[in-house]
Amino acid sequence: MWVRFWGTRGSIPTPGPHTLRYGGNTTCVEVRTEAGELFILDIGSGACGLGASLMASSPPSQQGHILVSHLHWDHIQGLPFFAPLYAPDGLWNIYAPKPLEGTAREAFAIQMSPPFFPITLDQLTARLHFHDLQEGTFQIGGATVTTRSLNHPGPTLGYRIEADGVALVYACDHEPCGNEVSTSCQILDPRDYAHAKFLADADLVIHDAQYNAGEFSLKRGWGHSVGEYVVELCRLGRVKHVVLTHHDPMRTDLIIDESLEQLRRGFADRIGLPRVSAAAEGAVINLGVAHGSG
Ligand SMILES: [Zn+2]
Ligand SMILES: [Zn+2]
Repeated sequence: MWVRFWGTRGSIPTPGPHTLRYGGNTTCVEVRTEAGELFILDIGSGACGLGASLMASSPPSQQGHILVSHLHWDHIQGLPFFAPLYAPDGLWNIYAPKPLEGTAREAFAIQMSPPFFPITLDQLTARLHFHDLQEGTFQIGGATVTTRSLNHPGPTLGYRIEADGVALVYACDHEPCGNEVSTSCQILDPRDYAHAKFLADADLVIHDAQYNAGEFSLKRGWGHSVGEYVVELCRLGRVKHVVLTHHDPMRTDLIIDESLEQLRRGFADRIGLPRVSAAAEGAVINLGVAHGSG
């Protein structure tokens, strides 16, 4: 299994000279299994570049599974600009949490209709199959996918994908459940331990970390994570590598560098730390195949 980041930003695309290294597109991650199955985790503005790349491959890659964490703009705004939807042979399964009212398909149909967008879902040439999800486990080809509700305004799901003997978790967007989020992050709510269990033993966790502990008191209720909290949960869960993503639009490349350094210093005396990095547009992580496991 390998992973490529096409969008790493939260809230709104943030192009410009100060976001060149970590990227300005909103969240979108390409995942490929060894069997060649394609999963796309969220379809923010990074999906525009991903779609162009899929269409430029030989032969064009026009089939796959789009796993949407929730229907906030920054996670879906690339859909109308995802070129494979306009390909005659396209076949896309789109999974999203069931909205409080109606279906995911109805929500996407509103997104792609006048006056918001000139082309409607029905005018797309690709075949689309929508799946309303709740918490559970299901199979997509050779991969086992488990969903878990995240602490965010409106129905939101994290995805755990297990294939090729490795496990990947994508958890975006999610706020700590407990009231105490300090730089040491040693006091956790029982609900946070349940979230840690969802991340546990993953080879790679890609997690919202829009804020740091110092910023959190002013941002509580906005539905986002804190770097210190994410690293501690991944440490407790023996995660191998955690990639922090959904960078705040105000975070420049330099601020992200400093936040990473601050996190590493803050956890320097802890044992069992995961590898910690920040998601960067264009970065590829190869998780390989775990031999001897199912
Ligand atoms: Zn978001
Ligand atoms: Zn959101």
